[in-house]
Amino acid sequence: MNRFLMTLFLFVMTLALTSQEISVAVFYEKKPQGVTITIQKGVYLVYNDYDIIDTLQIGNNISIIKESDYLVYRHKTKAWATNKNIRIVNNTDNAAFFINYSGSIEPARCYEGWIKVKLHEYSVLAVNYVNLDAYVAAIVERLSTGMASEEFFKAQAVMYRTFCLVNYAKHENEGFDLCDGTHCQIYNNKSTNRIIINASKKTSNLVMVDKYQNLLNPVSHLNSGGYTAPSEYVYGVSEPHLKSVKDEFAENGNNYNWKILIPAAEWQSYLINKGIKSAENKLYKQLLIVQQDERLNEFKIDNETISLNTIRTDWGWKSSLFSMSLDKGVITIIGKGNGTGVGLSVESARTMASKGFIYDNILKFYYSDIIITNLNHMNIYSEMLQKVRKEKPL
Ligand SMILES: [Zn+2]
Repeated sequence: MNRFLMTLFLFVMTLALTSQEISVAVFYEKKPQGVTITIQKGVYLVYNDYDIIDTLQIGNNISIIKESDYLVYRHKTKAWATNKNIRIVNNTDNAAFFINYSGSIEPARCYEGWIKVKLHEYSVLAVNYVNLDAYVAAIVERLSTGMASEEFFKAQAVMYRTFCLVNYAKHENEGFDLCDGTHCQIYNNKSTNRIIINASKKTSNLVMVDKYQNLLNPVSHLNSGGYTAPSEYVYGVSEPHLKSVKDEFAENGNNYNWKILIPAAEWQSYLINKGIKSAENKLYKQLLIVQQDERLNEFKIDNETISLNTIRTDWGWKSSLFSMSLDKGVITIIGKGNGTGVGLSVESARTMASKGFIYDNILKFYYSDIIITNLNHMNIYSEMLQKVRKEKPL
């Protein structure tokens, strides 16, 4: 192999071995005056911008506080000030640190990867650079309750990885990818669940796209009640991957059924208040909504309509899949499912996984015409590599 090919080979190998990292601003909404960091695992090197100035071992504790226009770094008896970024970078693969902010009464959080602390207007900004799989595992763990089989968590990992990339450019102007709040996705600790960590690793880099390679929004809800809803019923826009599917796996879920009783007179006045004038002259039994074999989008009286999703939201009912019956002035509402009904039904996916379905069958059951592809086939991949390469000291 000549020297050029060898160099090229090494370059390609480095690319292949470079794990995807994303940057997440932590304590973003707190706008803290400083942070404290304690090393939980591994060895970390501290850089004043790109110059090494300290080494941190397990248990070492440091603080970085904003004092006028400087960041002041303190470690044991050592202290120095800088107006540049402070980077605390892991020197070993298996590394994690605790972090908290000045004046916090919350427990410290534990994150993997490395961290950059910079001056930011009137506060400090702490940005965690974390491997995408580790970030995805953290999100899946926070959103999952109870045990499930690995295939369920693999499906969730592909969904939240896709979601993360859909949101990828949200904070571009501020110099990081995502924040740790509800604005992006709450990220408040690393994952500690082995099954979830493995599920994320085994689906590493996999995302959901359409045939044009567009990333798809992986919306989900708790239980479909037997039929998922097409996106236009809830969001007003038809999405090719969010069609209605008959979901026989929903009935095993804890949120499959609900029931509520309301006075028929109240139902009638609600309809009139919503502008359905003809409801005034109708008998109660003419105002009942009946959905049996499929989901309806709207309830129609004469030529006036009201969407079932509006009814669900106004009354705070668990779903828009319900049927009404009347008895002595009282309407009994039997409902199925919980949530918008659009996209993947989480409880059903759990059941599918327990019945032996694998993650891509689960995803393809709820999302129509999707392709599960590797991120490194997409343009965004090289963009991600470039960004991290610029930030990380070698
Ligand atoms: Zn955000």
